Amino acid sequence: MDPALGPPEAMAEKRDELTPMMRQYHDLCARYDDAIVLFQVGDFYETFCGAAERSARLLEVALTSREDSTGEYPMAGIPIDNAESYIEELLEAGYRVAVADQVEEPGESSGVVERAVTRVITPGTLTEDELLAGDDNNFVAAVARGEGAGSDGDEIALALLDVSTGDFLATSSSSREAIADEVSRFDPAEAVVDPDAPADLLPENCMVTPYDETAFDRDRAGAKLSAYFRNPDALLASDAEIRACGALLSYAEYVRGGAHEGERGETADEAETEDDALDDEDHHLEYLTHLTRYDPREYLLLDAVALRSLELFEPRTVHGRDDATLVGVLDETASALGGRKLRDWLRRPLLEPDRIEARLDAVEELTGAVRTRERLHDLLRDVYDLERLIGRISRERANARDLRSLRDTLAVVPEVREELADADCDRLRRLHDALDPLADVRELIDDAIVADPPIEITEGGVVAEGYDADLDDLRGTARDGKQWIDDLEERERERTGIDSLKVGYNSVHGYYIEVTNPNLESVPENYQRRQTLKNSERFVTPELKEREDEIVGAEERADEREYDLFCEVRREVAAEVERVQGLAEALAALDALVSLATAAAQYDYCRPEIEERGSGADGGGRVLEIEGGRHPVVERTQESFVPNDARFTDDRRLAVITGPNMSGKSTYMRQVAQIVLLAQVGSFVPASAARLTPVDRIFTRVGASDDIAGGRSTFMVEMDELATILREADENSLVLLDEVGRGTSTADGMAIAQAITEHLHDRVGATTLFATHHHPLTELADDLAAAFTLHFEVEQVDGEVVFHHEIAPGAATGSYGVEVATAAGVPDSVVDRARDLVAAADADTEPGDEAIDTATASSDAPAAETAAATADGGDVPTDVAAELRALDLAHLTPVEALTELDRLKRLLEE
Ligand code: ADP
Ligand code: MG
Repeated sequence: MDPALGPPEAMAEKRDELTPMMRQYHDLCARYDDAIVLFQVGDFYETFCGAAERSARLLEVALTSREDSTGEYPMAGIPIDNAESYIEELLEAGYRVAVADQVEEPGESSGVVERAVTRVITPGTLTEDELLAGDDNNFVAAVARGEGAGSDGDEIALALLDVSTGDFLATSSSSREAIADEVSRFDPAEAVVDPDAPADLLPENCMVTPYDETAFDRDRAGAKLSAYFRNPDALLASDAEIRACGALLSYAEYVRGGAHEGERGETADEAETEDDALDDEDHHLEYLTHLTRYDPREYLLLDAVALRSLELFEPRTVHGRDDATLVGVLDETASALGGRKLRDWLRRPLLEPDRIEARLDAVEELTGAVRTRERLHDLLRDVYDLERLIGRISRERANARDLRSLRDTLAVVPEVREELADADCDRLRRLHDALDPLADVRELIDDAIVADPPIEITEGGVVAEGYDADLDDLRGTARDGKQWIDDLEERERERTGIDSLKVGYNSVHGYYIEVTNPNLESVPENYQRRQTLKNSERFVTPELKEREDEIVGAEERADEREYDLFCEVRREVAAEVERVQGLAEALAALDALVSLATAAAQYDYCRPEIEERGSGADGGGRVLEIEGGRHPVVERTQESFVPNDARFTDDRRLAVITGPNMSGKSTYMRQVAQIVLLAQVGSFVPASAARLTPVDRIFTRVGASDDIAGGRSTFMVEMDELATILREADENSLVLLDEVGRGTSTADGMAIAQAITEHLHDRVGATTLFATHHHPLTELADDLAAAFTLHFEVEQVDGEVVFHHEIAPGAATGSYGVEVATAAGVPDSVVDRARDLVAAADADTEPGDEAIDTATASSDAPAAETAAATADGGDVPTDVAAELRALDLAHLTPVEALTELDRLKRLLEE
């Protein structure tokens, strides 16, 4: 057990003797024993004992101590004013944080100040803007296992919730790989897991939170869901989904902690007695209004490897530029709403041509309408993060400024609508209609809340003049009283004849009348002495006191009235949560479309033609045709980029691609996949023309990818990943294989590559791009009906290699490995020697010899094979050569190899 968590042992031993405050701390720690409790003491959040030692080290704050009759306890505190940055550090260190605020004013009650946990902060359930990335979702997940729909047998369900925006999704599958893929798609920061479900399908960066197992009970979960959605059984597909969603809702409510603003909340005392307090109505999350159930098969499937190697969200190289990603290139959104929407679209490319075309129509129209597009972009810049705003309003955590932000956003809506008034395409017209300016809400806020309110909502100055008669009365009373006091000086000077008489105010004594010593004789009878200073005396009059009480009373009551009114307005706005969310959704989609159009125009993309399979011009088969395709990310990061074509059909579906290192094979394959992906997102694509039938899945495998952290050999990883492809790919898949079979000996690698190629060709039928250094594969391609070869030619100019990055039909003629070595600055003597060796090997290799084809094997071919066969460049006796060829290197241990080499060497010398 982590000593930073749970009730401190030192306190537990003598709980009953502790001071009331320390007992409160102890009990909250016991109640929230999976979190570090931040305990408000005045302007600080304090931690004690183990938690104090931990946070002092993590947060680099001073470790002090607090002493009472029961002992001395280590203590460390952080200032409440900028608690957020400290909390972030605690989260990063893998802790959850329970914030225990003082929920009454000190001195309000006779005993110790009441404290309650007002929120539990965990990585997956953040709602504070300071801790969240604006343009991306932050999900918490729940995983449950259960009986599947129908008689599918066992099934795993995944529920995902963004507590800050209210986005709520559920899916399930009988394949754990499929759920693992969905997890990597949404990349949740945290998860709660049904004890029966496999936790190991969650990646390492996802915090698994132990949580009350009974929340996963079918009945309890169902009841929880019913509190939110009318008919959860109709909404969801299976018991497993209901259990995942219900448990996730319970968890989200638990995390919400006590109620808002620290007004109510679960106090230390209640915690002892009311264990069921967590199921309280108080915790209901009103802004959770939608639950979207989807089938993973509704979207283009991208597993973790494909997400990475297509550079969707993360740069591929560790040292890559941060913006060297697909989303980095495409994201021209103006609002956080749009940024999240665009990421969601990229995460989930579409399959149905109709839906894709609808987006493409909108992108096309916006691409053409330059002025409208730019105007919309400008307007959308003034759109606040409505989803999180309404979430805060609904959780009663919004202040008056948040309401004004909502109002300012609503003020933009009519103008946005206006820009779309003449829209042609269906999608934009629908968006136009969905843009509800919520005039009533805007009017309410305009009437009720002042234009530039303070951050605090309890100290007045929030509610506008004229909104509430009672408030105006109270303010009038206060104002009149102040006016009377302002006039008092003048009146009293006249009445007493003391010209130097002054009326003043201080916080201890309130209002007073000050008379200097020489004038004390003229002081009237009704003056009462309050304070004696060196040169003067201060007085009050009963009338002045009366006025003062009136002012203070009126001001206090006005502040209270304002707070009540504010809460009422906030509740009224919160009641419109669904309309605000609908508006947010429309603005988000519009922003994402404008962004795609902006990128299309800026980078000269073209509209892809999407064809339904089964209706295409090519007899209903697959089509993937790209003219002048470019790599969207690489073309942004380097000066000139050479466009290349691609053409795949049912009869031409497997391409074996060869060419020397650095000639452009990997870039080419990725750009083909990225163009397909972008097209299915509904985006224009980096090409001069493109035509395609949508694919269901994109698989990519890059040879020799490292999994050192996972502790498996690279070859093992490669084979594992390949196994998945061979099992799951079908004729609707797009498969990229980049140099697979590298992690083992040449002969083994070649054999595996060949077997895979045949399998993909004969059985799977996927559209396949296979870049390989195994040249014999190109010969294999000649024998397979639907396979063909492509290669990158390079040119030698004055002994140096020039890369044209241009793809051409046929196989590469040589590896140019030696020339690349020259270009890379390998010393001349070494390069010369290598040339000799290659030449000798060429002369010695019989045509059609497959086992050791040194002429075409790339620079990766073990040099020993060449060297041994051509010792000293002299003629090799044929028997030695034959023996060499027959050697099965894949099955030799290093010692056996050395022994064999030694034997052959002797044979030569004889
Ligand atoms: P390979 O996989 O054949 O070793 P890569 O695809 O990794 O080669 O390409 C190597 C480098 O060549 C890339 O990093 C890129 O800078 C450049 N390159 C690749 N394709 C092109 C192209 N079509 N136009 C311009 N430069 C390219
Ligand atoms: Mg490569």
